[in-house]
Amino acid sequence: MITVEQARRLISKNTTRLTPISKLLPEALGLVLARDVQSPSDYPLYDVSAMDGYALKAADTRKASPSHPVSLKVLGTQHAGDYLKTRLKPGVSFRVMTGGVVPAGADSVLERELVTEKNGVAFITHPISRGRNMRYRGEGITKGGKVMTAGAFLHSRAIGFLASLGLDRVPVYPEPRVALVVTGNELAKPGRKLKAGQIYNSNQWMLETALKEQGLAPSLSICVPDHPARLKNQVRKALRSCDLLVLVGGVSVGDSDFSKPVLQSLGVRQVFWRVAQKPGFPLYFGKRGKTLVFGLPGNPASAWVNFYEYVLPCLRKLQGLGVENIRRTAKLISHGPNRGFKTLYLKAQFKDGPQPQVVLLKGQGSHLLQSLAEGNALAVVPSGKGKLKKGEKLEIHPLH
Ligand code: AMP
Ligand code: MG
Repeated sequence: MITVEQARRLISKNTTRLTPISKLLPEALGLVLARDVQSPSDYPLYDVSAMDGYALKAADTRKASPSHPVSLKVLGTQHAGDYLKTRLKPGVSFRVMTGGVVPAGADSVLERELVTEKNGVAFITHPISRGRNMRYRGEGITKGGKVMTAGAFLHSRAIGFLASLGLDRVPVYPEPRVALVVTGNELAKPGRKLKAGQIYNSNQWMLETALKEQGLAPSLSICVPDHPARLKNQVRKALRSCDLLVLVGGVSVGDSDFSKPVLQSLGVRQVFWRVAQKPGFPLYFGKRGKTLVFGLPGNPASAWVNFYEYVLPCLRKLQGLGVENIRRTAKLISHGPNRGFKTLYLKAQFKDGPQPQVVLLKGQGSHLLQSLAEGNALAVVPSGKGKLKKGEKLEIHPLH
């Protein structure tokens, strides 16, 4: 048996980021950039106008005043998307729309609202400064320059930015392929009529959706009876096509607990089994080649807490994401349990604010899910002696 800290360390030590792949940009949402990105071009790519207005030479307006406006001949219109090869000479101007390329020779754009145009002549009543409303080529980004660093998280803003540079593919750490195998003779699908002795299989849908909450879909999700040969067959198949296997149930010392021997017979090396924690004491972690294997106890609250505390950080590390769960500290405002040699993960209601508070919920049993469903946090009670007192500070893992 090991401590929760040792368990975390062993998982981290045995988990390395997946091999990067190239992804089409929109499909890279939620993933992590695996290499630095260089810009394939300058940005902006042209000198463009920031406004609808008139492109001109600022020097031409030096003597402009309301009583003696400067008049500039308007030679034509530049819409966004147009490209003009001629050079603007002194004394003339061009209508130019937002995003339109400013003709060579022009150095400023005066807003349309400030110009009166009559019979193809623009009248300017004030001197304007050079560079007004200009967006210069390469002003933000130059071709070949680093624009994003390996490790960056690709949210929609990052994807928009990379798209603006013309990129369509990016090197990222892929989504891990996760296989979910739940086992138990007693399990029936929710909605079905139960036979005597059966219970509803809550873990499968709970963990499938817990993965979806992380933007991951299981590559395989099956329910298998407690039958060594059938379990072995299914686990063998699952191992072939995943980066991480979550096997739920049958990981303890009961007569129908076959998960460990089955994993061993398939060449999975045990890294640890049993962690000094409650719930989730029989947690198993193993490895075969690069494939990681978690064996979670079947009691639903144990399965979920272990999934949240250990499997999710491991999945995040495979993807190159940050590993730690969000942690807060809060004052306990309800009564607490006795401490012992195990770390406790207690279902709790957390109230954030200048003085964060936490209440421990009724129904801490590892077979009870209502408190987990209604609560919004896990309160962590380290091992120790004596009763946890009202007013003590606890580490909180807020749940999203
Ligand atoms: P096990 O870890 O297989 O010994 O199961 C421990 C407890 O969790 C038993 O009471 C099982 O009936 C229950 N259990 C196991 N798997 C599930 C599941 N998928 N859904 C709900 N309860 C389960
Ligand atoms: Mg079982």
